[in-house]
Amino acid sequence: MHSSPELKSKSLWLALLVGVLAFALVSMTAPAKLSSPDKSDDQSEKKEDKEKKKKSKSDDDDDDDDDDDDDDDKQKKKEAAKQSKKSDSKPVSTKSEKAEVQNSAPIVSLTVGSIDTVAATVETDPVPHGGDAADDPAIWIHPTDPAQSTIIGTNKQGGLAVYDLSGKQIQYLPDGMMDNVDLRDGFKLGGQTVSIVTAGNRKENSIAIYKVNPNTRMLENVAAHKIAHGLSIYGSCMYRSAKTGKIYYFGNSKSGDVEQWELFDSGGKVDAKKVRAFKLGSVVEGCVADDELGHFYISEEAVGIWKYGAEPDAGDKRAQVDKVGAGSLVADVEGLAIAYGRDGAGYLMASSQGNHSFVVYRRDGNNELVKKFRVGDGGGIDGAEETDGIDVTTANLGQAFPHGVFVAQDGLNDKGNQNFKLVPLQAIIKQ
Ligand code: CA
Ligand code: CA
Ligand code: CA
Ligand code: CA
Repeated sequence: MHSSPELKSKSLWLALLVGVLAFALVSMTAPAKLSSPDKSDDQSEKKEDKEKKKKSKSDDDDDDDDDDDDDDDKQKKKEAAKQSKKSDSKPVSTKSEKAEVQNSAPIVSLTVGSIDTVAATVETDPVPHGGDAADDPAIWIHPTDPAQSTIIGTNKQGGLAVYDLSGKQIQYLPDGMMDNVDLRDGFKLGGQTVSIVTAGNRKENSIAIYKVNPNTRMLENVAAHKIAHGLSIYGSCMYRSAKTGKIYYFGNSKSGDVEQWELFDSGGKVDAKKVRAFKLGSVVEGCVADDELGHFYISEEAVGIWKYGAEPDAGDKRAQVDKVGAGSLVADVEGLAIAYGRDGAGYLMASSQGNHSFVVYRRDGNNELVKKFRVGDGGGIDGAEETDGIDVTTANLGQAFPHGVFVAQDGLNDKGNQNFKLVPLQAIIKQ
């Protein structure tokens, strides 16, 4: 069988055409292949996309009602934070270009590899409001059955919730725009010794005060009256003096003002009197007091963490624990918490919101840096990102948390509104 010359030349042309097409195809795909990101980048981009979708769904501004929050600035900061999460080779840039200039030191280059990733084993029910709503947790330890302990969490859009250690909401109080919450045991009230819970109510600009009913585990309002701040309340925390046994409430403001109030029994209700005021240079919120060592720590969001004396006569002498930019923190610096160990040992923990991580320092001495970690996805529970408030206890909380628990607000919950993540403390700190 011989093909005709005409057919032969047709086949030749066809072969040539196929060759040319194949060459064109190869030259088109080759550069694309070269510039395509590697697998891990691809994954992180997918994750980023997921987060973006989530964000567009919810208003993720830290504060919806404040004029001093620049939306553009926030967006820039969040993009920078995402960038830092995505790439471990690029330096972390933050919103605080001001801090960058001031420190004139290289921006901290945290690498993903240098940060441990742990996972939550429990997450709470989401808060009832969408957008940026959940803010700060506090852990209440049941006096006789630690497994019955609770997590009290704020919903800054409208109230306060109580969760059991499985994350189930057991109480919700629509009492106002509660921003931060803290508690102290051992308050003498109406002849009883009770746990007192305080929260800064931004709706009324008042100090919300409750006691925990250990039988129901629920909160009961015990404020003697509406106690108004002398500032526009933002963050708050509490202190119990080892020296005097007195219990205090610290409230602060975006203006950098801090007030210390002494809480006292007034006919079976709790009243408060202002005993101290001082001022920092810019926006503050997260704070915590070390009851044993008498320190008061506060986060200046774009600057770092400061340590003051916690007694009302301590004045404004202070030391800087860590810095944004040159230190281990990426703005905003948010929640602070203390993990008490024996004999003054233990840790100060901080939320470094700008790079979705947490920083651990020693409680004693000059608060030496111990480690950094993230709460990542694991065991069917998503990680904690853009965390505002945190709390921690080293107490045995029963089977679920025999070595204590670390609680973090999650700004980007994968299913529904924001919530709180519970991480067994031994995953973070080997004891
Ligand atoms: Ca937030
Ligand atoms: Ca804040
Ligand atoms: Ca999350
Ligand atoms: Ca979730």
